[in-house]
Amino acid sequence: MADLQPRPNLSRIKPYQPGRPIEVVARELGIKDEIIKLASNENPLGISPLARKALAENIREGNFYPDDSGYLLKEKLAQRYGVDPEMVILGNGSVDLIYLSAFAYLDPGDQLIMTRGSFIIAKIATHIMNGELIEIPPTKEMRHDLKGILNAITDRTKVIYLDNPINPFGTIVGREEFDRFVDHLPPHVLLISDEAYYEYSTDKNYIDSMKHLMAGKNILILHTFSKIYGLAGLRIGYGIARKEIITALMKVRLPFNASRMAQIAAYHALDDEEHVRKSVKVNEAGKEYLYREYDRLGLFYLPTNANFIFVDFKIDAQPIFEKLQRRGVITRPIPQYGFPTALRITIGDEHQNRKLISALEEILGGASQ
Ligand SMILES: *Cc1c(COP(=O)(O)O)cnc(C)c1O
Repeated sequence: MADLQPRPNLSRIKPYQPGRPIEVVARELGIKDEIIKLASNENPLGISPLARKALAENIREGNFYPDDSGYLLKEKLAQRYGVDPEMVILGNGSVDLIYLSAFAYLDPGDQLIMTRGSFIIAKIATHIMNGELIEIPPTKEMRHDLKGILNAITDRTKVIYLDNPINPFGTIVGREEFDRFVDHLPPHVLLISDEAYYEYSTDKNYIDSMKHLMAGKNILILHTFSKIYGLAGLRIGYGIARKEIITALMKVRLPFNASRMAQIAAYHALDDEEHVRKSVKVNEAGKEYLYREYDRLGLFYLPTNANFIFVDFKIDAQPIFEKLQRRGVITRPIPQYGFPTALRITIGDEHQNRKLISALEEILGGASQ
């Protein structure tokens, strides 16, 4: 008998490389001073205060399993979007829902289409299912090439994954362009519209995917509590789609895929309009400051619709990443996405942004350590 082997398609998977946690960097480099993390697009204002209060009040219920139906949170979300609660699904982060879509829709050999270099989870999910991954290069402006994606659709295409804004570029497709795209989608295809940063997008031209969902299109809209609501550590996101699509996803999920504490925190974070407003404001101010400073330092960057900026140093970015890290600033190298000369850097609060810029200035000015 041959030795135990994992399924051959797993050889195509490179494990996801998350941003490095502060405690890991502190331990590894023996850094005692402050370390700031600008690597995972977390909210620099922290967790929503309303969520934090609710968590403290409910922590003693941690011995109970969650409400697996997610009744209260789904009701609240359904009301907010004017849909039936049966059109909502909760996830262990919104990445959970990308996996569930692959589990529910991809037979071996079925195709998932996405933009090359965009958020990598859909790629991993496709390989797990032994699906065929079709990657369309981004346009020169580092946007989704919607025409290219449409042209790539075949009878075997089941899922199109579109993150908008794109992680790691921060660019968006405009509303009209998106509308035309959706109008051309054939009925055998599911479009995942991953809108993890939509609360941050201040562009008036941002897409309206709800309209298409309400018109009966095969769209799964993904939102998350990880970014603007500051709940990344609790792991909760949600999807909205037609009932038939949600029913399929519900069949393949693990029970209790949204924890009790995550549901409670999310429920209260939704009421925290002040936290959301402040977060957008801090992000806008940070964006303006960083654009100015990147310009001053002569760095190439992509204007963003999210809370991170793609900065291309045009030289190997790994040494820059390491020097920043030694100065207590964690950023995100993205060679896995195909951009070894770039870093994806989260927009922080004022203090964090200043610390980033002064470290960069030192490094680019020729400091060797
Ligand atoms: C951050 C991010 C998410 C959110 O993931 P969670 O699992 O909800 O934490 C989803 N999609 C993209 C493109 C992201 O950048």
